Formats: sequence, C-alpha cells, structure tokens
Amino acid sequence: MFAAIAVSYGITVLALILLAIGTRKMLATIRLGQPDPNRRDNPGKRVQTLIREVLGHTRMRQWNLIGIAHWFVFVGFFSLFLTLITAYGQVISPAFTIPFIGNFIPYELFAEFITWSTGIGILILIAIRQITRLRKPPRKSRFYGSTMWQGYYVEATIVAIVVCVLLLRGLEGAAVGPIAWTWHYPLTYPFIKMFSSFSVSTIDIWIRTIATIKIAVSMLWFIVIATNLTMGVAWHRFLAFFNIYFKRNAGGAPSLGELPPILTKGKPINFEDPADDDLFGIGKIEDMTWKGLLDLTTCTECGRCQSQCPAWNTEKPLSPKLLITAMRDHAYAKAPYLLAVSPEARAALPDEVRQEAERPLVGVDGVITPDILWSCTSCGACVQQCPVDIEHIDHIVNMRRHQVLVESDFPSELGSVFRNLETKGNPWGMNASTRNDWIKECDFPITVLDGQIPEDIEYLFWVGCAGAYEDRAKKTTKAVAELLHRAGVKFGVLGDGETCTGDAARRSGNEFLFQMLASQNVETLNTVFENRASKKIIVTCPHCFTTLGRDYKQLGISLELIHHTQLLNRLVREKHLVPIVPLNQTITYHDPCYLGRHNQVYAPPRELLEASGAQLVEMPRNSERSFCCGAGGARMWMEEKLGERINMARVDEAIATEAAGVAVACPFCRVMISDGAAAREDVVEVFDVAQLLLKSIG
Ligand code: SF4
Ligand code: SF4
Repeated sequence: MFAAIAVSYGITVLALILLAIGTRKMLATIRLGQPDPNRRDNPGKRVQTLIREVLGHTRMRQWNLIGIAHWFVFVGFFSLFLTLITAYGQVISPAFTIPFIGNFIPYELFAEFITWSTGIGILILIAIRQITRLRKPPRKSRFYGSTMWQGYYVEATIVAIVVCVLLLRGLEGAAVGPIAWTWHYPLTYPFIKMFSSFSVSTIDIWIRTIATIKIAVSMLWFIVIATNLTMGVAWHRFLAFFNIYFKRNAGGAPSLGELPPILTKGKPINFEDPADDDLFGIGKIEDMTWKGLLDLTTCTECGRCQSQCPAWNTEKPLSPKLLITAMRDHAYAKAPYLLAVSPEARAALPDEVRQEAERPLVGVDGVITPDILWSCTSCGACVQQCPVDIEHIDHIVNMRRHQVLVESDFPSELGSVFRNLETKGNPWGMNASTRNDWIKECDFPITVLDGQIPEDIEYLFWVGCAGAYEDRAKKTTKAVAELLHRAGVKFGVLGDGETCTGDAARRSGNEFLFQMLASQNVETLNTVFENRASKKIIVTCPHCFTTLGRDYKQLGISLELIHHTQLLNRLVREKHLVPIVPLNQTITYHDPCYLGRHNQVYAPPRELLEASGAQLVEMPRNSERSFCCGAGGARMWMEEKLGERINMARVDEAIATEAAGVAVACPFCRVMISDGAAAREDVVEVFDVAQLLLKSIG
C-alpha cells in the first residue's frame, strides 16, 4: 500500500513541478513575440467561436470519421479526469468513490460510455494513422516528416488509460460481490465477471496496482510533455483553445482573404517616414507576433495542410506543416538565447543554442530556404484545413515582406513585375492607353467613366489588368460586358483610370508598392463613388475581388464587390438572361482559390453551368479541397523550376474526368489551365463560365 501511495503521489508531485517549469518556459517563449493589437476584439463572439469550434469540432469534422473519432478522444481526455481523481483515492482505500457523484448512475453511465467511445475513437485514429502511413508512398502521407514517436506515445497513453479505467470499473464491480448486470456498471459487466472469482483482498491489491499504473501513466505523460515543449501533438490539448480564441476573425472565418496589415511592434508603419527600428515583416523568429509563436506551438503535426498543399503535392520543398514545425523548433531552440538576461549569460549557453541563434530564419542555410518561401501560391488550402486555425499564409507573406523590403532578396522575375507595376500600373508593363482596346472589339456601347459615376449607372465594372490586356481574359471581359448589356444592367468602366489593385505586390511581400497602388485606386474610387452609399463593383478576377473588397478595407474604403458569376447567376434566376441553346456538353469546373477558399463562392459558377445546359462532372479535388492552378501569391509571374508544374497536375485531373471542357472563373486560372492543356496537347477546351453562358443565350 505504501509503495502504491509513494509512487502515485511522488510521480504526481514531480509531474506538477516539471509541468509548472515547462509551462513557464513556454509562456516566456511565446511572450518573446511582438504585440498584436488585433486579437482581443469582440470577446463575446470569440467565446462563441471557441465553443462552436471546440464542442462542435467544426474544423476537425471537415474529415468526418477522423473528426468524430477525435471528438470522443477529446471529450474523454477531459471527462476521464474524474476517474484519475478516483484512482488517487483508490491507492489509499480501494473502496474510494468520489463523494456525491461516485455512485450516481448517470455519472457512471457517462464515464463508462466515454471510456468505451474514447477507446474506440483512439483505435480508429491509430488505424487511420497506420493505413495512411503504410498505404501511401512516404512523401504522399500526411504524416511524412511528423515526429512519429510523439504521436505513438500519445496514442499508447490514451489506450493504456482506457484499459486501466475499464479494469478498475470491473474490479470495483467485483468488489461489491457477485452481482447481476446493474446500471451502476452498465458497460463493464464482462470485466466484473472476469474478476468475480477473486477474493476481496486480491481485488484490493489489483485496484491499488491498476490505480497506481493509471496515475503513473498519466503523470509520465505530463512529464514527457513538460520536457518536450515542441510536442504539439500533446500540447494542442491545452493550446488549441487559446489559438482558436485569438484567431484573426472573431466570428470564426478562417484566416483567408485579405492579408493582415504590416505592423511594427503592434503599430502600423508610416511608409512615408519609417523609423530606424521599424520591423518590416518577419526577418528573425522574434519578429513574429506572440500569436504567430502560439500558432507554431499549437501545431499538432496532423499533416492535413501538407496533404492539400499544391506545392508539396508537386514535389516542391514547401510543406506548410514542415514550415511551421521548422519555425517552431527554431523558436524553442533559440529561446534560451533570447531570454538570457546578459551577454555573459548568453556566452555561457551551450554551443548549439548560440549556433541556432545565429542561424538565419530565411536563407540558403536558414531555417526556411528561399525555395520553400517562394513556392507558396497562397492558395489557402493549408489554412482551410488546419484544425487548430494556424495562419500559414500570414507567416509566409510576413517573411516575404522582410525579404523584399529589407533584404531586397526575391526571385529575379519579380523585379520586372515590380517595375512594371510601379511605372505602368500593370504587371505586364503594357501602356495604360491600351487598357480600352477590348472596348473597340465590342459591338455595343460601353460607358467609360470620367469622374463621378452617373446616377443611372448601378455598377462600376472593374476590368482588371488581365481582363484588359491578356488575350484569353479579354474574351471573358467581353462576354461579361455583353451579358450585362443584354440583361440591361447599367455599368461603366474606368478605362485608363484603372490601375492594378496590387494583389501580386502584396502577396509577394512588396507592401510598399501595394500601398502605393492601393492609395491611387482608393483616391480614384472615392471620386467615382462620391456621395454614393453603396459602392458596387463587378469583377471577373477573384484576385481583384479579394484585394478591392477585403484588403482595401484596411485603407478605409468599403466596397460592395460582386463576382461576375454571382451577378450572372442572379440575372439568370431573375430571368433577365434566359439560356435557350443548351450546351449539351460535359464540363468540369476548376474552383479558383481566391473565389472559393478565400471568399466561399462555390455554388454560383456551378449553378450557372447547369443553367447553361452543361453536364457538370466534378474533379476529385473540388470546392473547399480544390487544387490550385499555380498562379496565386504572385507565382503567376515566377518561373516554376522545381518539381512538377502545378497547372499540369491540375490539367491531368481535368482531362481524367473526360469532360469536353474545363470552365474557370478567374483570368489567372484560365491562363494556367489553358497553358497546361496546350502542353498536354489535349483537345479539352478551356472557357470562362461567362463564355459558356453567352453561348447558351444564343
Ligand atoms: S497557401 Fe497553398 S501553396 Fe501556400 S503553403 Fe498553404 S497550401 Fe501550400
Ligand atoms: S499546421 Fe495545422 S493542419 Fe498543418 S500539421 Fe499543423 S495542425 Fe495540422
């Protein structure tokens, strides 16, 4: 008895001491981050989001079976805490039960049900991990690169605890005497029968022994995590609550769409007159905000992000999971150096700590290589999938910001894009005077606005650089303009008054250039919409859609953006446009990341295709889990030298559907997909949804 008490209580004291030390170190590391003033708004909404996401497992349930199994394991982790309390009593007195509720049938029913469901849940998760790991080639497994011993250890601990609880319940029941099935032990009757031949003293010894094992297994788990602060697979049990509560959007939307403004020490940068010690993005790990460091610490290494990442799936070195874990490991390895109070204390640190402190965050020998950093298309699949709301894109763009604005170190192709944007206001470097050329090819009138938008014109049609200059995208522009004209929608265009929205500049990290382009456009738009309460803009480009509608809010202008597929769909439903010649073609639809994941527009393009009489065949990866075309995040303007081309992977998927055509709803997707189809020498045709509708209108 004394041994059981000594082991149980001794290991508990040790675990609590180590846990307190570990938690203190973790908090000190997270506090090294920069301030972030945007994480505490709307506390009520944040609590609602937290409850919804945690209790409803809304993010986890994107993968249904895993989500359900994980829910039971999660509930079990917290609910079975009471069985741990019971075990502490049982090592002293085997007959111990928690006062008041210990023999309360609803509690016993709940405890046994949760124990079984936790056991089944963890077995399902173990099986899924093994099947995923063994059935797929190593790199294709979402667990590739995860610290597997940690996952196995957590799984084994949960199995051991479930077994202990079931055995203890059986022994407790057997201790009561030979009994028939009873509501007190509703789901452990077979265990009671198993132990029914044991004498009372043997049962007592077994209860003490199993209770001691249960306590030891539980406390060993705390000791292991307290001494492994980078063990996110265990720590997320506590940290996920905070990471979800402090997510970018209090209402719960994933951190997609607009990029967060560039802040230095929690305040906006004055680009006109920046201070000497301003931070431009993330150049060192301690330039991340505390929320960024919390993100890194919370990663469970589940690899959902990796499994969806177009860069990783085309053999590029970027995996969002491995990026996060590499930054996390670096942060925790460097933390003792950053926390050291004096140069002497720093000098006294072990060599490996000082070497890690000197390692650049981004660089050929850095934690994140340039090939990793610049492979991201900002498609948002990682953010969309992450069950604990990690904000990968924000961290990637913040590192790009430092590389561009401070180091002037970026892929050479971007140099000419930046120059073109700066001098010509479009990434192609075309003359502004040719922005209106597409209008000359239309046989119906188009109003080019000069100053304020007239009363009778409802919408500004923002053509976009691709829509004005790129031949394939021009076809979309003309089709949309014709459809609007035929539906009687009054719209005007800005002509050469339009300048690039700055999407590519912002997502490649050139915040300075973005601010310049955005300010110019905001000035124009303020003039155009002067005195208008609702500033309605039609776009064909999802990148303009996001930048104008969401990023520009940070510049103080609120615009009502509508994507052409949304408006056309409405016009069809309201019978302003009536398809009369059904297409009778099979068409597959490629979801543009910036329309789908970044703005949740999935249904309107599909409904339009159906209205046009097309038979829609989906690609295996569609909607939220669609696969990028490879053009986002300014990748449109960079050479794709590593791995398979992303557009080729996507085109192969489209060709495999055997559809006659691929419909898109983004000018960049259109370029990438049609280039891919041409390279495959396939007959599959690529259209914008608007062109198909126009065909069906006759
Ligand atoms: S945004 Fe897309 S490309 Fe970038 S890391 Fe995430 S999944 Fe990969
Ligand atoms: S970043 Fe999120 S999705 Fe990716 S491995 Fe970590 S927890 Fe999983």
